[in-house]
Amino acid sequence: MDLSTLTSVIGGEAYTTGSRLDLIEPATNDKIGELTDVDYAGVDEAVRSASASYPAWRGLTPKDRAAALLAIADALDAHVDEFAELEARDVGKPLADARAEVGSAADKYRFFAGAARTMTTAAAGEYKPGLTSFIRREPIGVVAAITPWNYPMGLTSWKIAPALAAGNTVVLKPPVEASLTTLLLAKLAAEILPPGVLNVITGRGGTTGAALAAHPLVGMVSLTGGNATGSEVMRLAAPTVKKLHLELGGKAPVVVFADADLEKFAAAIKGAVFRNSGQDCTAATRVYVARSRVDDVLGLLEATANGLVVGNGFLDPTVEMGPVVSVRHQERILGMLERAQSSGARAVTGGGRPDMAGSFIEPTVLTGVEQNSEIMQEEVFGPVVSVTPFDSDDDAVALANDTVYGLAASVWTQDIDRAVTVAARIQAGSMWINTHGPTAAEMPFGGFKQSGIGRDLSVHALEDHTQLKHVAIAHGQTL
Ligand code: NAD
Repeated sequence: MDLSTLTSVIGGEAYTTGSRLDLIEPATNDKIGELTDVDYAGVDEAVRSASASYPAWRGLTPKDRAAALLAIADALDAHVDEFAELEARDVGKPLADARAEVGSAADKYRFFAGAARTMTTAAAGEYKPGLTSFIRREPIGVVAAITPWNYPMGLTSWKIAPALAAGNTVVLKPPVEASLTTLLLAKLAAEILPPGVLNVITGRGGTTGAALAAHPLVGMVSLTGGNATGSEVMRLAAPTVKKLHLELGGKAPVVVFADADLEKFAAAIKGAVFRNSGQDCTAATRVYVARSRVDDVLGLLEATANGLVVGNGFLDPTVEMGPVVSVRHQERILGMLERAQSSGARAVTGGGRPDMAGSFIEPTVLTGVEQNSEIMQEEVFGPVVSVTPFDSDDDAVALANDTVYGLAASVWTQDIDRAVTVAARIQAGSMWINTHGPTAAEMPFGGFKQSGIGRDLSVHALEDHTQLKHVAIAHGQTL
């Protein structure tokens, strides 16, 4: 595909005004193209375009908005090969994983198309004499959506589908590291949606993103990204009191009791730790194991890490794990690994970078990691997992809850009482028992504690993109 045909889209038209940013393929670290760095004037034009298209879009029936979302889902399916190839090159994903992500994104547009038509509120009623009240659930207006690079197709669908389904219009800014599939989506959507309903602008976070998050005509900012970005977006949104929807970082604990079925655990943990090179906000990062089973679990994780086929998954279909997204991110992870190993952690396997061109990190299993150390407390966002013993249920729960994050967690035991009790005590928005990682369009996804505000997916995401209005009709007579 000719990458120069992929541009920002404002008001249904290609937008190319601005300086240029380099696009780097992480499996080779070669430059593969350029992006426009949209400046304030472009952000303003995009927001005004979304604002101008809002009255007509919100005025459509849910059925008509649903039809447009279904057409977007069909366009994703029809162009799955192009999307998957772009995503595999842009972020270094194995091609099969990128294809699966396109399918999963299409599913989200279909889910929210259906959900749009189910939204109802309480029936009208009389709460004061001579007055009938009812509630309207209304869209918010222009939603600024800001996305991260780890699941570009998937997470744009999580942002765009509920916002449009509820009747909002959108300006979306993808990350520089992973804009290509979002730009192809914008191009296809321009054939389906009225101009200005979905605008996509590329550029850097601190400039384009910040201008978008602060724009006075934006009613809601929906960000998926890191915690520092979340805090900054809250600050930017404060002067104009915007609604916030923040899906931030995670540091998922995995609690393995002595009676856990380790065969099941072994089957699930490969994806839970190493999927997407560990660049997953729900990735299993801190494995806490009943002391008697530590050696078994370490052995399992070591064998899993050593068995992974690492390489360029765009070219080689046997590859299971690609590079991390950029040289910058690789260097950040290597720094964390170095500091962990120089303060007492031991790499059972991995611990550095393999001898390969591109931004690769060795699949790494650590032991002897201090609970209060950087690598235990901060997101690594790479193929790195630590294994730590615990001695009691209380100990396990305390360790699991001992970070600022609360996005996801899993517990492994065959004792249903213990599973349910521990699951209730761990502070996380997604809690898995004897598995780790599955999400569903119908189920809410989001964070406790500093992992975020609001829920993606499910009817709750649709509701998050609306506001309630009380309408009271004076009719002068009691019924
Ligand atoms: P990031 O925070 O660096 O960037 C996310 C987006 O925010 C990008 O588009 C970026 O350009 C933009 N941005 C950066 N600074 C900004 C600013 N000052 N104002 C406005 N926009 C700004 O995150 P990343 O490195 O792209 O992605 C990884 C992070 O995303 C991890 O922390 C991960 O846990 C998180 N994440 C969370 C979820 C979830 O659902 N909770 C899902 C995936 C990723």
